[in-house]
Amino acid sequence: MFELPTRAQEIRAQVESFFNTRVLPNNKLWMTEAASGQAVPDIEKTLRREARDLGLWNMALPRLAEDEPGIRLSNLEFTGVAEVLGRLEWASRVFNCHAPDVPNMELLQLFANEAQKRTWLLPLLEGEIGSAFAMTEPQVASSDPANLETSIVLDGDEYVINGRKWFASNASHENTELIVLVGVTDPQASRSKRQSIVLIPRHTPGVNLVRNLPVFEHTSVTNLHPELELNDVRIPATNLLGERGAGFAIGQARLGPARLHHCMRAIGECEVLISLMVKRSMERTTFGKRLDEYSSTAEAISLSRIELDQCRLLVQKTAQLLDTIGNKQARKQISMIKVAVARVYQAIADRTIQLYGARGVTNDTPAARAFGRARAFRIYDGPDEVHLQTIARLESGEQDAGLLGHYLFNQEPTRAG
Ligand SMILES: Cc1cc2nc3c(=O)[nH]c(=O)nc-3n(C[C@H](O)[C@H](O)[C@H](O)COP(=O)(O)OP(=O)(O)OC[C@H]3O[C@@H](n4cnc5c(N)ncnc54)[C@H](O)[C@@H]3O)c2cc1C
Repeated sequence: MFELPTRAQEIRAQVESFFNTRVLPNNKLWMTEAASGQAVPDIEKTLRREARDLGLWNMALPRLAEDEPGIRLSNLEFTGVAEVLGRLEWASRVFNCHAPDVPNMELLQLFANEAQKRTWLLPLLEGEIGSAFAMTEPQVASSDPANLETSIVLDGDEYVINGRKWFASNASHENTELIVLVGVTDPQASRSKRQSIVLIPRHTPGVNLVRNLPVFEHTSVTNLHPELELNDVRIPATNLLGERGAGFAIGQARLGPARLHHCMRAIGECEVLISLMVKRSMERTTFGKRLDEYSSTAEAISLSRIELDQCRLLVQKTAQLLDTIGNKQARKQISMIKVAVARVYQAIADRTIQLYGARGVTNDTPAARAFGRARAFRIYDGPDEVHLQTIARLESGEQDAGLLGHYLFNQEPTRAG
């Protein structure tokens, strides 16, 4: 385990205390209010005010300025806090540390001009509005951004946007005011220079909701994944984020911390699942023995512990690299944690479901939802295969062919001719 500075440990302790005394005891109330159709449950609003008053706010932004609200933590310092927030699906929202707003805020901190910061970053930091990130398109394989088709065309002093996006998480949420959209401004440019990013006010005419998509049949008003049609959407040309043609590079910068945070939160949720497995194994008896007396149960719990602790170390190391060498230089480690954590998350959720038997597939425990989220995590923020390809490519670039030759003795036969 990485040793965190005293200040980070103290903040984590404060967050944990608030979580244990105010957030967790209100979980059932939050669920009831969300199920009754409240997009932001009343209890969440109350808790957000309390967390903000305590200063436990915006802790996931290592670039938070002195005059911006909240506590600035480094990526490594935030790992401990994020684990606590990950214990409940909705807890991050209480502290304004939730996706997709955090990675969007980070993007605005890095690339927005002063006017854009005033219009979008400030209200996001204050928690007054929500945002979405729209990249994926239904008609093309969007794991390859070069395939994107949504067009962004300059017409006088406006950009005109046409296309279709889906899984633009939270774009249809009632609080969302900003859609950060990746589209094509320069179709003739090289693969990585075609795309640009624009800032679209959510209620601009021509931004049409087609439908909200379920994830494994799960739909909720608090967490929406809409399909959108963009039909002659006109925005001022000044709503371009960063340089024209820099959409690919800017998108990559956003995804580093976004992936890291998902991994940190997943580790927190896995801790809950391991505790629930232990609890179940000590309470349930079958064929005359408690579940914890069976070696299969011991294996499920032990493997989960081993794999989760391995993941935590890898995630902490990656967070430290993000803090020291930067997002781009740490991209191999980001891909590594994305693959490793998503798989362990899915395996632990699966084992928990198994130990809880029929109850495991219901909503009476968090395991079924965790399984669905973990499975989706193997696809969003880049499918496993794409990350594995990145890791292998970077790994091969790091090898020293000259030195490696010394490990091999006989000349490898070459094909004649
Ligand atoms: C719950 C959820 C939330 C999401 N939130 C957002 C969001 O907020 N904003 C947004 O823009 N998108 C979002 N997405 C979309 C997500 O990022 C994309 O689904 C993902 O990038 C993959 O793109 P695709 O669906 O087009 O799959 P494709 O690109 O069509 O890929 C399909 C499959 O092909 C295989 N494949 C692809 N590339 C390779 C390769 N190089 N080697 C081997 N096999 C390969 C993989 O098995 C992959 O799963 C979300 C998705 C989910 C499920």
